[in-house]
Amino acid sequence: MHMIFLFNIFVIVFLLQCVFHANTTVTPISPLNHNHNVNATWHKFSELVVARKGAKLSGLSELKKYFHRLGYLNDNFTDTFDDTLETAVLNYQKKLGLPITGTLDSNTVTEIMTPRCGVSDKTIDNLGSKYTIFSDFDYPKWDNQTEITYAFSTKDMINYLSFDDIQDVLRRSFSRWASVTPLKFKEVDDYGNADIKIGFYEGDHGDGQPFDGVLGFLAHAFPRALHFDDAETWVNIDYKSKVGVDLESIATHEIGHVLGLGHSSVEKAIMYPNFKRGVKKADLNIDDVEGIQKIYGPNPNKAFVESDSSSYGPEGGRSVVKWNNKSLLKNGKRNPNKNPFLDECQKKQVSKVDKD
Ligand SMILES: [Zn+2]
Ligand SMILES: [Zn+2]
Repeated sequence: MHMIFLFNIFVIVFLLQCVFHANTTVTPISPLNHNHNVNATWHKFSELVVARKGAKLSGLSELKKYFHRLGYLNDNFTDTFDDTLETAVLNYQKKLGLPITGTLDSNTVTEIMTPRCGVSDKTIDNLGSKYTIFSDFDYPKWDNQTEITYAFSTKDMINYLSFDDIQDVLRRSFSRWASVTPLKFKEVDDYGNADIKIGFYEGDHGDGQPFDGVLGFLAHAFPRALHFDDAETWVNIDYKSKVGVDLESIATHEIGHVLGLGHSSVEKAIMYPNFKRGVKKADLNIDDVEGIQKIYGPNPNKAFVESDSSSYGPEGGRSVVKWNNKSLLKNGKRNPNKNPFLDECQKKQVSKVDKD
């Protein structure tokens, strides 16, 4: 009897320790700086930090739906952290270049809560380290067509940015991809016959990929269409705005999809799926250039050589990576040791050039 009493005390103390331990070791994730209606579903993902396999938690079913939409998990929307969710978390961490733990650690949950592109992360190759390319079935290549036309919807538009501004933003975004490929893009008025149709849509808008309110999924693309979430506050110059989403950064990313690129694991690449707010990230990274040139080849009128000071961005002169067939060189600051495309010899070569 005495022993049972002691054992019960021991169990109570142990359980209290577990509760206390759980309360003190949860790493708080940095809250997104939302000033207006946050996407409620995504915000609740913060409650899942440190969930591990075997856990039963309200909210895991919503997370599974999120992973399902992004191509990481089949239909199985229970609130249990099972094998399928663990596999999804591992693949997500690999894809986003996060530490691979298989648990919902604070890094992972923070990324899950970060606004992103709504296009699935599933592509034919799963290299896990750089750009990806969609299959021709998902995004047919623009073959035998040197001039691709695009047009804006007249009814599905926003009115707080001027139409001139929106046209300028998209012109710059298309020009980035044109500068490194043989492709040419032209805006036309004939929306019905344009190759690429562009518009702003809210909620369920009939293509099976409903938007989800403020933040969360920001935009998505189809082979011939580019859709922005109308619920976002789209900004042009004012990209440091706490509430705004930079239209140019997202447009450049979505055009990459229209042309056949999937999501990249390189965080600095335009084709990385997540977007940090208050930052403009619209110039192509060498990972994006490698990917798009794998599909279409380089721009025949614009060879990149060591002395070339052109930029992959339309303004020129910023965040430049210059290269030719022999070497991969830079005109900006970057760490060659972190470049996944360089072998040891090339890294030394880049380091040497940096010092010169
Ligand atoms: Zn995307
Ligand atoms: Zn859509």
